[in-house]
Formats: sequence, structure tokens, C-alpha cells
Amino acid sequence: MKRVLVCGAGGFIGGHLVKKLKSEGCWVRGVDIKPHEFSPSAADEFLLLDLRREENCRKALSIDGGTFDEVYQLAADMGGMGYIHSAECEIMHNSMLINVHMCHTAAEMGVPRYFFSSSVCVYRDMKPGEPEMTEEQAIPANPDNEYGWEKLYSERMAMAYERRTGMQVRIARFQNCYGPEGAWCGGREKAPAAICRKVAEAEDGGWIEVWGDGTAVRSYTYVSDMVEGICLLMRSDLHGPVNIGCPEYVTVNELVATVAEVAGKRIRIRYVDGPVGVQSRNFSNARIYSLGWKPKVFLKDGIRLTYPWIEAQVKARLALAR
Ligand code: NAD
Repeated sequence: MKRVLVCGAGGFIGGHLVKKLKSEGCWVRGVDIKPHEFSPSAADEFLLLDLRREENCRKALSIDGGTFDEVYQLAADMGGMGYIHSAECEIMHNSMLINVHMCHTAAEMGVPRYFFSSSVCVYRDMKPGEPEMTEEQAIPANPDNEYGWEKLYSERMAMAYERRTGMQVRIARFQNCYGPEGAWCGGREKAPAAICRKVAEAEDGGWIEVWGDGTAVRSYTYVSDMVEGICLLMRSDLHGPVNIGCPEYVTVNELVATVAEVAGKRIRIRYVDGPVGVQSRNFSNARIYSLGWKPKVFLKDGIRLTYPWIEAQVKARLALAR
């Protein structure tokens, strides 16, 4: 039986990845600094460890005097644009320490295969209508935020360890990912979850606030497609960073319209100042497509799967407050 380690298993994508790996028959150890907030972990074993400390990375990686067949490194101090802009120092300090120690210790302990979760935040800002950017066009680098710089450094470190030690490294650059059991309030939520929450809280015909003018372009990848891409990439021969994202690009206004339609509400938008992030995105998925990956869940269907879960969280919170 394949033994795998998932770091960040108490988080959104890590939690879904654990379920997927279990469904494939793997023995899974999950590690996180906190338990999963929304459901008990599906992992065979779950360790609470702070991976900023090298000795904890060693504990996470040690198993019966041997090592894991596959290590998936998704632990990070991260959140949506609001968090990324307000917590630059925490992100650079905490995520960097996690990646420096995890990557070094994994290579030292002879891990054969190591996955690193990077982000399309490594790319520069784009203008609407610009041609697709390929992975190598992240260099020369000019990420919009410090989160992107940290990811870029950690990618390069993982590739350097691959060259030096032969540890097989696979790197995915995720586009925005959404689905049930992710952060939906408190400041770390990303745009799809935040919009679902605001729409769930609003009356029919009511108003919601949106940062910026609603024209920023993004694509959103449903979490089951993302974990499928992660697993395919991990078992492939693709070296270097690989974009994973749904090619359905929409404005924030279109995202709101989709959520409102799924919710069955008429929603009006009040545009307010806030950290919008880049204006546009458009990436090549040719590398991940070459493995046979294709997104199966497009935005409206993904929101149909996500909105009821967030609406239920909103209702449960309201009931508690009464
Ligand atoms: P998440 O915040 O839900 O999960 C990250 C997990 O890491 C959290 O459970 C957190 O507790 C854990 N963690 C943080 N500090 C830790 C520490 N010191 N020790 C151990 N665990 C620690 O985020 P997610 O959305 O599941 O993202 C997973 C990975 O994918 C991250 O590396 C993130 O940067 C990357 N990513 C996510 C998206 C997205 O849209 N969700 C997009 C691009 C990249």
C-alpha cells in the first residue's frame, strides 16, 4: 500500500486531497497546525504539528524508520486578497519557514516524490485580452504581491533540491480554487466563497459590497478538478511548474451574477475600495492538458455545489447568534 503524507491536511484543498488519496487506497498521514474545521479528517493518522519548525517536519516525515512514497506539501499561511495584502510579513515568514524546512528535510530523508502547491500569483499583472502566459513567462518575475514572491522562491528551492538530490519534485501553480469546506468568512476566504456568503446573507433584491469596480478577470477551478490535477501531475514525468486552472474566465460582476442566479435572488452591487489584486488572468494549461487533464466542473455547476454549503454555514451561524 502506498504511504503518503499530506501537509496542510486541515485546510481546504488538503482536506479534499486526503479524501481522494484514501479513495485510491493509499495509507494517508495528514499534518496541520490545526484540525480540519468542517469535517473530521479522512486521514488514517492526523498529526498536529507546526511545520515552521524543522524538528516537526522530521516528525511529520518519519514513519517506521523509513519514509513516505509521496509527500504533498500544501501547508501555507494564506487567504484571499484581503489577507494577502494585510499579512505580508506573516505570509513571507511562516510559509517560507514551512517550505524551507519541509523541502530540505524531505530531500535529506530520501523522499522519492515531493509535490509543492504554488500559485498563479507568481505571474505579473495582465491586461484583458492579452495572450495566454506559459509557465516560463513567470520569469522575468514581477508578482503583484509578496505571497507570489514566496511561492516563486519556494518553487526554485524545490527545483534546486531536485537537481541536487534526485528527489522527484512536482510543482502545480493553482488558479483560484473553490468548493465546499473551504474558508467562507473571517478574512481568509477567497472571492467565490465571499460572494456566496454575501449573497446568502442578502435579501432578495438586496445589496452586496464588492471590492473594486467588478471588472477584474479571473478563472475559478472547482476543488475536485484541482485534486485530480494534483494526483495526475504527481505521478507524471512533468518537471518544472505546471499551471492548473479552468479556462473559463469571468469578471467579478459575472461571478456575482452566477451566484445570484444559483441562489435565486436579485442582487445589486455596491462597489467599494478594497484590495482587488491583478486586473486580468489568462494562462496556458497546455502542460496539464498533455496529461489528459480537463476541468469537468464549470463555474455555474461548481457554484451549484458550493453555494448550498455556504448558505447552510450562514444559517447555522445566524441560528447560533439568536
Ligand atoms: P488553507 O488555508 O485552507 O490550507 C492551508 C493549511 O496549511 C491550513 O489548514 C493551515 O492551518 C495549514 N498551515 C498553516 N501554517 C501551518 C504550519 N505552520 N504548520 C502546519 N500547517 C500549517 O488553503 P488552501 O486553499 O487549501 O491552499 C492549499 C495550498 O494551495 C496552499 O499552499 C496555497 O497557497 C495553495 N493555493 C491555493 C489556492 C486557492 O485558491 N485555494 C490558489 C493557489 C494556491
